[in-house]
Amino acid sequence: MEGQVIARADVRREGLRWPFPLRMAERLTGARVERLRRRSKYILGDLSTGETLLIHLGMSGRMLISGTTLGKFHHDHPAPEKHDHVVLDIEGGARITFNDPRRFGAMDLFASGDDDAHPLLAKLGPEPLGNAFNEDHLVAAFAGRNTAVKTALLDQHIVAGLGNIYVCEVLHRAGINPRRKAGRIAAPRVAGLVPIIRQVLGEAIASGGSSLKDYRQADGELGYFQHAFRVYDREGAPCATPGCSGTIRRIVQGGRSSYYCPLCQR
Ligand SMILES: [Zn+2]
Repeated sequence: MEGQVIARADVRREGLRWPFPLRMAERLTGARVERLRRRSKYILGDLSTGETLLIHLGMSGRMLISGTTLGKFHHDHPAPEKHDHVVLDIEGGARITFNDPRRFGAMDLFASGDDDAHPLLAKLGPEPLGNAFNEDHLVAAFAGRNTAVKTALLDQHIVAGLGNIYVCEVLHRAGINPRRKAGRIAAPRVAGLVPIIRQVLGEAIASGGSSLKDYRQADGELGYFQHAFRVYDREGAPCATPGCSGTIRRIVQGGRSSYYCPLCQR
């Protein structure tokens, strides 16, 4: 999309998780995507019109690219599907289709440069792979906090874009029980989470992410990190920690599943 002009935007419903901005199709038509970037789980496209397009894939959203060659494959335009909600035709023939069966995704437009004023972006913590996320930041963020460490790591104000799967994997590698209160973990153990978070995310990115159920990458391929899960979705399986005889257990915290080993995560 970067450097390309949106020749035509077809918006097929009023909104997804939230209503789309007014006249979204009109505001996108003719716009050149000057720069594509990411903040937390939001895709941001700075447009030549002075606006920024914000996209969130939600639970099941995906952006399908057709009419062009992506990697090794050329994808012709597929037949329209029921859950194709927004279709962007790019000058030169490529097409980007936002398909989202569960409709938890989102699209919005806001004045470029106003990232920090957007309600979804304003209070986000630092990126886990950026320099602002470091030992001092995490130790300070956890100090005095009475919530469970699992909940604290999922808190987007503390660290942005770290999801449920990766928090489960991080806590297992760190040997920390997800129910431990964040403020009661010794500072060196909290600091030790930083390199583990970077390591888990790095491995996941290298293997193309984690594909669950109906999720696909833009080229239709599945990611492979789910085959490397040590705890996530492994309830009842033996713990992967060398020398540990524990069995992975599942509990629910804040409405999300936590998977952990009660023996080696204390
Ligand atoms: Zn274990």
